[in-house]
Amino acid sequence: MNREIHLASRPTGFPEDANFKLVERPVPDIGDGQVLVRNVFMSVDPSMRGRMNDVRSYVPAFQVDEPLQGRAAGVVVRSNHSAFREGDAVSGSVGWREYYAADALTLTKVDTSVAPLSAYLGVLGSTGFTAYVGLLDLGKPHPGETVFISGAAGGVGSIAGQIAKLKGCRVVGSAGSAAKVAFLKDELGFDAAFNYREANLDDALRESCPKGIDIYFENVGGDHLRAALERMNQFGRIPVCGMISQYNDATPPPGPANLVNIILRRLTVTGFIIIDHEDRRPAFVQDMSTWLRAGLIKNKETIVDGIENAPRAFMGMLRGENIGKALVRIGPDPVR
Ligand code: NDP
Repeated sequence: MNREIHLASRPTGFPEDANFKLVERPVPDIGDGQVLVRNVFMSVDPSMRGRMNDVRSYVPAFQVDEPLQGRAAGVVVRSNHSAFREGDAVSGSVGWREYYAADALTLTKVDTSVAPLSAYLGVLGSTGFTAYVGLLDLGKPHPGETVFISGAAGGVGSIAGQIAKLKGCRVVGSAGSAAKVAFLKDELGFDAAFNYREANLDDALRESCPKGIDIYFENVGGDHLRAALERMNQFGRIPVCGMISQYNDATPPPGPANLVNIILRRLTVTGFIIIDHEDRRPAFVQDMSTWLRAGLIKNKETIVDGIENAPRAFMGMLRGENIGKALVRIGPDPVR
């Protein structure tokens, strides 16, 4: 049988166990040109929260009583396509279930000699790619500039910060616990970090960014955006990657009252969705593989075991229980 996580009902506010259910269905057959994939790792992504709402977005909403979807990495267990063989490691976008039949051309083969399978959902997958494009293409860092990253100890934030360090920037992060602050400073080499749950954001940014902020890598929104706008330098850049502080709000909160700083400081504020930047993926894979091989980027993951625990991993990520990339492992990893 094939175990899947379905959306049982649409969450109102913060999701709860009753919004999810574990369902067993037969393992699918495969047709011509298709392969059967056994998922090993599933990505736990904040964007899934948005897809639980019945609203228009850049991807279709999840349907009640249907499986959730998300990025996943696994192995081919049966193939009707000459380009794929049993045992090949692949990544795809049909997660939250143990097995799926895929048109071969929708899958990407991954090289587990470069990095373990899980890395293709994190540092070498869309998470790392988001950090790369957001920081380099939109942030446009120069050596000596100050980069402030919110959600800094998460998947995207922790990679964006490390790339900024590689580019010679002064890097400051905010995160939601003392353990995360220690991780940023001691393990990743951030120049400064603070726990936003305990700090006054304005004081913390004044102390940690004495020369102001040149790039604010926005993952959180809300008061973080307001405080960063107060501290931005002229001609600063704000790649707007996410606003996770608002994803569970039933009614959108009012925007910051100081948006006028965008004009006064001549800021470039750019929202982006990583799916629009595929042309940059080859450069990303090349650079990130090089950095990983040279030990210049650390790949931190928080892994929860068992497909039955996937909803709890998702809610845990929204509460900040992960350090680095949040993943669920749902079966043995044959390539580790
Ligand atoms: P993370 O690994 O960063 O996990 C989410 C983190 O958000 C939690 O660990 C928690 O850390 C933090 N968080 C939760 N609630 C709040 C809150 N109210 N205020 C501040 N922080 C909060 O997830 P990802 O790295 O996958 O994603 C990071 C951001 O990037 C998200 O906003 C996501 O939507 C966005 N994203 C955007 C993409 C794009 O294409 N634009 C692609 C991928 C991600 P803490 O303990 O620090 O609170």
